Amino acid sequence: MVSQSGGRGKPDGKPKDIVVFSITKDATCDECGEELWSGDLLRVVEGTAHCMACADLGHLVYLPSGDAALTRRASKHSALRAVVVRWSRSRKRYERQGILVEEAALAQAEEECLSDAGLRAARRAREAEGREKRDEAFVRAFAQAIRSRYPTAPAGAEVPIAEHACQKYSGRVGRSAAAKALEPAAIDPAVGAAVRHRWTRYDELLMAGWDRNEARAEVWADVATVLDSWRGGGG
Ligand SMILES: [Zn+2]
Repeated sequence: MVSQSGGRGKPDGKPKDIVVFSITKDATCDECGEELWSGDLLRVVEGTAHCMACADLGHLVYLPSGDAALTRRASKHSALRAVVVRWSRSRKRYERQGILVEEAALAQAEEECLSDAGLRAARRAREAEGREKRDEAFVRAFAQAIRSRYPTAPAGAEVPIAEHACQKYSGRVGRSAAAKALEPAAIDPAVGAAVRHRWTRYDELLMAGWDRNEARAEVWADVATVLDSWRGGGG
């Protein structure tokens, strides 16, 4: 079933990296209409522009190039990752800026590199920044809302989902929108996305080069099964 072309270039079967662009001109996400500014990240799939949220890469954190050991380790630990490139006007080519990896993968990589005191300081700074960004009351409320809709979800599963939702909403919208964000219409997609990423093969399929929609279709039944069991098996 796998054809061996025997051609030059990359070995057969090796998936290409997921590439995202750090844009140099303002743009708009073709899917959700979000405005993107110079420096924001954009993924292009078959000529269509996607913001990181629509590209399902919004949960990843950015690690700039510069520390080869940290990059290598974070990349190794991250089930889903992407390469960030930016157009260099002077050199007339795309240049690698860094990678996007899972937060836990970056934390683990830093853990492994912690003998370096400079990195330890960098991590402290990042954690402090992360805490500021998170509106703890919102996280608590969101986590409670998830727990009441999905009473049999694994213990603690609601916390990272709530934190991610909070990062998305804090700073961008006001209090009334935050209240709206606690309604089922906002809870369910957040939980569904988390289940897709963490409890199915979805990220693995994306890494293997699957089209996002095909990958979603492939894991759809698995997501539904997990959500069903989290609801306590009821409807
Ligand atoms: Zn979008």
